[in-house]
Amino acid sequence: MHAHVQQVEQGAAYLAAGVTTVRDLGNILEFVTGIRDTLDAGKGLGPRILVSGIVDGDGPRALGTVRIKQREDIAPVLDRLKRAGCLEVKLYSSVAPSLVRPIAEAAHRRGMRVVGHVPEGMSVLEAIAAGYDGVSHVQFLFDPLFAPGEAGKMSREARARRIADADVAAPPLAQVVRAFAAKKVMLDDTLALYELMNHTAEENARREPGLAKLPRELRGLFDGSSPAQAELDGAIFSKYLAIVGALHRAGVPIVAGTDISVPGHSLHRELELYVQAGFSPMAAIQAATSVPARVMGLQAQVGTVEPGKRADLVLVAGDPIADIRNIRKVTTVVARGRMYDPAALWRIAEFTP
Ligand SMILES: [Zn+2]
Repeated sequence: MHAHVQQVEQGAAYLAAGVTTVRDLGNILEFVTGIRDTLDAGKGLGPRILVSGIVDGDGPRALGTVRIKQREDIAPVLDRLKRAGCLEVKLYSSVAPSLVRPIAEAAHRRGMRVVGHVPEGMSVLEAIAAGYDGVSHVQFLFDPLFAPGEAGKMSREARARRIADADVAAPPLAQVVRAFAAKKVMLDDTLALYELMNHTAEENARREPGLAKLPRELRGLFDGSSPAQAELDGAIFSKYLAIVGALHRAGVPIVAGTDISVPGHSLHRELELYVQAGFSPMAAIQAATSVPARVMGLQAQVGTVEPGKRADLVLVAGDPIADIRNIRKVTTVVARGRMYDPAALWRIAEFTP
């Protein structure tokens, strides 16, 4: 539920890991819709791709070429995304806060959801009030710990300490949990990505066995935290796990997404982390199956194994309910009714099977 399909080889890697559908949360629109349409025509190797159209605003750190800088831009941009088959509008960090509500209203009128980063100058509570249907990245949930403008004036260490010392059961984080629960706002937390960023390279090698299987070109991408910062970063990561657990207990739809991390393998890690956060193993599996299917309106086609649904299946050698780590032991993947050998797929993407 949080992918960026940047290379066609990723299709084989995702399938090898048992990922039969991905939500692409930001890409070059013509590139990703081209891959999507090729796969849908049965001509390529990869999961079904659900495309969210990324939109940013103005400013030095704005991303991509699809921009909404003023109200007049909203209708033509959203019409373009709708024509391209985008199911959602993904807002990025430089969208003007004053434009979020009109964008959300215009998107909802067109049958599209609004998801993404919380724009700079806005809190997650304001984003939800303005119409967000989903938030990406658990880090945004901690912004209410800081007064407006305060975080920018603090040292990295002081900011990190504030998060590491926070109590997720007390205000303002308890209000964040309530706001998500009240409107059933979805969170794709990207915990597996934060784990890689917040731990040292040695620690990451221990936690994510998939790192040892990467093709040469992708090695060294995850140097992680420096030993000097590792303790504080690890404490922040513990708070990320705690709030995801609290959101799950409050009935918030949590969906498994990994962003740009270890292709395929990080999805398995995400589910292991959900169990650490207090999910039952079945609930962790549902965060990658039935919950995303329901959120995306695809529950009649996918998400559970039932007659009449699409033949998208993953077989694993072991019981993942007994030990969620068995989710990594993928022996067979069925997607669009075709059966695949994961080892052969990994080799196509130049991973070690
Ligand atoms: Zn992303």
